[in-house]
Amino acid sequence: MRWTRVWVSLLVAIATAAAGPWIGWWPTLFGALTAIQVGTLERRTTKSARPERYVAASFLSTAFFASCGAATSGGPQSPLLFFIALPAILMANRFRRPVVLAGLAVTLLITWGGSIAVDPQSFLDDPVMVMVASATIVGVVIFTLSLSDTEMALRADARFDHLTGLLNRASLQPRFAELRSQAHATGGSIALVVYDLDCFKSVNDDLGHDRGDAVLRDTAHLLRRHLRAFDLVYRLGGEEFAVVLPGVGVAEAFEIAQRQRESIEEARPGGVPITISGGVASASGCDVSWETLYHRADTALYCAKRKGRNRIVVAEDEALSADVAGVPVDPGAELVRPAR
Ligand code: GH3
Ligand code: MG
Ligand code: MG
Repeated sequence: MRWTRVWVSLLVAIATAAAGPWIGWWPTLFGALTAIQVGTLERRTTKSARPERYVAASFLSTAFFASCGAATSGGPQSPLLFFIALPAILMANRFRRPVVLAGLAVTLLITWGGSIAVDPQSFLDDPVMVMVASATIVGVVIFTLSLSDTEMALRADARFDHLTGLLNRASLQPRFAELRSQAHATGGSIALVVYDLDCFKSVNDDLGHDRGDAVLRDTAHLLRRHLRAFDLVYRLGGEEFAVVLPGVGVAEAFEIAQRQRESIEEARPGGVPITISGGVASASGCDVSWETLYHRADTALYCAKRKGRNRIVVAEDEALSADVAGVPVDPGAELVRPAR
C-alpha cells in the first residue's frame, strides 16, 4: 500500500509539472498540494488509531486543492477535474460502503463546484469534460468498491470451513499466536482440546457421504453450544476438531470436554449414534506454545482411542481421565461400531 501511495503521488506530481507551462502556476501549485495530500492520506489512514478523523480532513482538503486547481485552469474544461477522483478512490477500499458513498457524493459536489459553478457558460458550451470526469469518478469508485467486496469475501472464505461454518486450521495459528503473547505477558493459562469422531469412516461407508457431512455439521454446532463467546472451535480437517479455551486450567477444560462429549453422545448428530474422543492439554505463562500443547493434546487423544474411544483423556494424566470418564482403562479394547 505504501508503494501505491508513492506511485500515485508521483504520477500526480509529474502530470501537474508537465502541464504547468500550459495551465499556469496556480493550477500547478494546487496540483502539487493535491499530490502531497494524496501521499499523506493513505499513510494517515493506515497508521492512525482513529483513521476516520484523518480521512475526513485529508479527503476534503485533497478534493478541495484539486478542485481549486481545476477552477484556476479552465473550470469545466480543466484536465485537473480528474484529480478530484483520487481521494475517493483511495477511500473506497478502506471504509464502509455508506462512508464511501457519502465521500463520492461530496466528490461530485466539489467537482461541479470547481467547474460548473466557476464558469456555467463554458459548461453549457461544452459539457463533455465535466460529464466524462463525473462518470469516471463514479465508475472508478464503484469498481473499487466491488473489488474490495470480492477481497473481503475471499478473506472470509479463507478463514472459515465451508461445511461446518467453523474457523479452519489456517486461521488458528495467528489467533493462537495472539493468545500465546497474552499468556506470556500475564502468566494466564490456555487449554486445548483436540477431538476426533469415533469410527466416522463407517458412517460414510454405511450411510453415505452426505449423511457423514450432516454428522460433521451437527457435531460442529454441538461443540459450539457449550462454550463461552470467546472460546474458539476449529475444524482441523476431516472429522477432527480443536477447541481453544483461553484462561482455562486443565480441570475445567476436562469438565468442558466431558460435557461436549456427553452432549454429542446424547444428541445423535445427523441422526447417527456416534461418539467422540478428546485429548486435553493445558499450559500457562511462558510454557504456552502451540507445538507442545497440540502434541500433548493429540497424544492424549491417541490414548483415548486406544482405551476404547468415547472418552476424554488429559495429557500426562491417563489414570485421572480414565477414572473420571468412568470407563476402565483397556488398551486392547475391541472397537464396537455404533449400531445404526
Ligand atoms: P477413529 O475412531 O480411529 O478415528 O476411526 P475413523 O473411522 O473416524 O477414522 P479415519 O481417519 O479412518 O476416518 C476418517 C474419515 O473421515 C475418512 C474420510 O472419508 C472421512 N472424511 C474426511 N473428511 C470428510 C468430509 O468432509 N465429509 C465426510 N462425509 N467425510 C469425511
Ligand atoms: Mg481422524
Ligand atoms: Mg475418527
